[in-house]
Amino acid sequence: MALKTSKELLAEALLSKLPGVGIERIAIRTQGCWNCRNFRVEKAKDLWWDHARGALLANATKIAIESPLGEKDPRVVAVRHMIPLTDKKAHLGELGCCSVGKQPDGALVGDFIFSTYLCGQWSGAEGASVAREGEKADALPEELLERLHEPKI
Ligand code: SF4
Repeated sequence: MALKTSKELLAEALLSKLPGVGIERIAIRTQGCWNCRNFRVEKAKDLWWDHARGALLANATKIAIESPLGEKDPRVVAVRHMIPLTDKKAHLGELGCCSVGKQPDGALVGDFIFSTYLCGQWSGAEGASVAREGEKADALPEELLERLHEPKI
């Protein structure tokens, strides 16, 4: 009898804790920016703490001064929400820079990317293939969404 992969074992454990949830609703990720060789955590920390964070705050302050809504301007609220979240991600190493990653429309991912993202340019970091046990490629986020939303017969 063939041994089960860790992915299969994890799927079984999840299903046992989620009665009524079908296997088609379970998505286990073995690939993401977190184990891609293009994900640069230290570069992101430097860029975030030295430049981007201050620039975002300065821009939000300018908007708050100029907007009739002041601090309640949605753009200011969005920055206020985003700053602590990104601080935490940067601190935990879950924020990275990537110069080759692409969004579904083909545009580059931009200066920062969260570790849970995955794009078609994924290239396994050292050890990633061992941890993945030769699994086939994971579905991209947009493919997963498509699968989860497709009508069930
Ligand atoms: S965006 Fe794509 S290429 Fe960049 S780190 Fe993430 S998976 Fe790798």
